[in-house]
Amino acid sequence: MVQTCRRCIYDANVPGISFDSNGICNYCHTHDELQREYPRGAVGKNRLNKIAERIKRDGKGKQYDCVVGVSGGCDSSYLIWLSKELGLRPLAVHFDNTWNSKIAVENIHCVLKKLDVDLYTHVMDNEEFNDLARSFLYASVPEIDALTDIALTTTLYSAANKHNIKYIFNGHNFRTEGIMPLGWFYFDGKYIDGIHKKFGREKMDRFPNLWMSTFIYYMFKRIKRYRPLYYIDYPKEEVKQFLQKEFGWQWYGGHHMENRYTIFCHDILRNKFGIDQRYVEYSALIREGQMSREDALEDVKKPIPYNEEIVTEVKKRLQLSDDEFQQILDLPKKSARDYETYHPTFQRMRPFFWLMYKMDLVPKSFYIKYTK
Ligand SMILES: [Zn+2]
Repeated sequence: MVQTCRRCIYDANVPGISFDSNGICNYCHTHDELQREYPRGAVGKNRLNKIAERIKRDGKGKQYDCVVGVSGGCDSSYLIWLSKELGLRPLAVHFDNTWNSKIAVENIHCVLKKLDVDLYTHVMDNEEFNDLARSFLYASVPEIDALTDIALTTTLYSAANKHNIKYIFNGHNFRTEGIMPLGWFYFDGKYIDGIHKKFGREKMDRFPNLWMSTFIYYMFKRIKRYRPLYYIDYPKEEVKQFLQKEFGWQWYGGHHMENRYTIFCHDILRNKFGIDQRYVEYSALIREGQMSREDALEDVKKPIPYNEEIVTEVKKRLQLSDDEFQQILDLPKKSARDYETYHPTFQRMRPFFWLMYKMDLVPKSFYIKYTK
């Protein structure tokens, strides 16, 4: 019998898990720690308003106050609306990995048009993205979607730098999304480069990778990163209805499902690596009282098979024959530990990143996850 947390649905198979004497897991405690650090209600609202005031002051004489990452998803669409509500002049930034769903594109445009917000897009070179994606599949690691995450981070930084903006807003919300255990999802620029050098067929020269030097450079430019959704009440179902009513925004059927490559990544994670992101999301919602533990345990029992239509598209675009694809599925599972990463460097720089977190130059979750 595998031990399961008495509060959330994480069990002993989750990497880095430990249980206290009451059978509550360390991830629940981390969640509570973040809750204490980012209270909502009047206190949270007050803090967020103060942040907005400072951003407005710093934005005087500039075209924009802050950069906001958008994907067409629920959280980032709401974040754009929220930044306008706070009286800010956001520049929306989108990294297009060329796998957007039609709904995602429509969502981005309907929200931005109505709110009169400019859009800065970095469109990835198709062939290069496919080469990188194929490399990660052959590396046989779970972080196949890390490419999009890292490229989005770099794109946000470079858009901010280009327009002399000192603030980046990110739509992450630990209360509804949770935080992925490190052993399930690790990414950094060196990891991507190392895997591509080993398995890539073409040169990587247009992918916006986040090198250590670039990362440090932006920190020294004092570009601050905030996660405004941490400070407010965020009942996800109500938010969706609000967006639909206000903007004609459309729901795409699941968390992060606005991107077709991400759907494929989730399928691979679940079916090849046994990593089911429903555990992360549901556990967060349970800790927040937005979902019952019973409902969550019942729902995760339902298997989600590969989306065949998307698998066919992936094989075609990545030029993988049926045999090659099967060979990839059968490869022994590897992890970030099998490749070179910045992790040992991040760990050595723990005091430095603590300082960066205290100055709002890196998110707390980065400090917790990457420097331990
Ligand atoms: Zn737990």
